[in-house]
Amino acid sequence: MILPLASGVFAPVAPGDRPVCWAVTGRLGGSSVGEFSQANIAPHVGDDPSATSRNLNSLAALVGVKGADLALMQAAHGSSIARVHGAGTFPGVDSLITDRPELGLVAMGADCVPLIFCASREGDTPLISAVHCGWKGIVAGVVEATIAELRVRGATHIQSVVGPAICGACYSSAVDRRELIRSFSQREVAEAVLRSPGGIDVREGVLTQLMSAGIEPVVVGGCTYENPKTLFSYRRENRTGRQGIVVAMCEIQVPS
Ligand SMILES: [Zn+2]
Repeated sequence: MILPLASGVFAPVAPGDRPVCWAVTGRLGGSSVGEFSQANIAPHVGDDPSATSRNLNSLAALVGVKGADLALMQAAHGSSIARVHGAGTFPGVDSLITDRPELGLVAMGADCVPLIFCASREGDTPLISAVHCGWKGIVAGVVEATIAELRVRGATHIQSVVGPAICGACYSSAVDRRELIRSFSQREVAEAVLRSPGGIDVREGVLTQLMSAGIEPVVVGGCTYENPKTLFSYRRENRTGRQGIVVAMCEIQVPS
């Protein structure tokens, strides 16, 4: 059974709203062994499929849904969004949005930033979203695109949880990559990402994007590179698993 780093519930804030459950995972718990030990949730990294499948079932249970009702993405480091009406793996997107109460949405990473949104709508079911964002996602604007889509679809109050990612001190990068971020991002976002000399801190950029949209996120977990016992890091280990974040509307009854 996967042991989450943190989990929680966003209580309803508007009429017609429902509580939304989320959980952030690391390496702990789970069925995978070796370099994928223990809680790898990614089917595409070379792990034993039966172990990954057990881990995904356990991930789903953390938010009260079935493993067969998870929506995953094959991230493409762009800003494309899938409007999800059923479970499965969605290729070529870095953002999933749904209003379906039976589904759990998953974003995974092993240095990139996994995050979720819970968007309340007056008199309607909430929207939930899971997003994957690396440095290319910062340049492509996947976080802003997702927030804009949630607002177009009626979101009046948006909450967010941001999972673990590599920090700027551990993610040194070539000058050209830093220049791209400087040229294609909003100034305050680029400043946040490039604050570490010679490094890239994607999570600081994501947090800046959220704050400038008026969203104060819950932030879970530290630097993936610095915590080998609890977090997967692609840049530290290359062949490794993925942790992640899952979100779903939950059945918990909240007293009115
Ligand atoms: Zn670090």
